[in-house]
Amino acid sequence: MRILLVALLLTAAAGAGLYGYSHYQGLERTRQEALGRQCSERLAALREAAERYALASQAGAEAAWPQGGPAAALAPYLVGLDPAAGCPAGGDYRFPPTVTDKDGRILPPACPHESETIGKSELPNGRRGLHVLPP
Ligand SMILES: [Zn+2]
Repeated sequence: MRILLVALLLTAAAGAGLYGYSHYQGLERTRQEALGRQCSERLAALREAAERYALASQAGAEAAWPQGGPAAALAPYLVGLDPAAGCPAGGDYRFPPTVTDKDGRILPPACPHESETIGKSELPNGRRGLHVLPP
């Protein structure tokens, strides 16, 4: 009887531990997804600032960033966002070497977490709409 009781207690403790662990994983996943969405909003704000900068500076095809780089160029067009802040999940954004491509289109920055996955998720963040520009 005593052995059965101990076995039951151990099973219950293991179950609670597993539940706690999976609950933690669920919370962590939710947190990571929220950071990914915040990142996408930040990338959209940076792209919009780059469009406004390109318009104001009359940037043509393959326009180079001015002295001070993207952060200095975009700062006047961003409200409440430091252009050098980077991804909310950590890491700096990668800006292309030029503001525009050969056809004059804006080249947006990219997040280093775009190709990573959250937990055991098989799809990379970018395919899930996280850490990439919104469509
Ligand atoms: Zn990101």
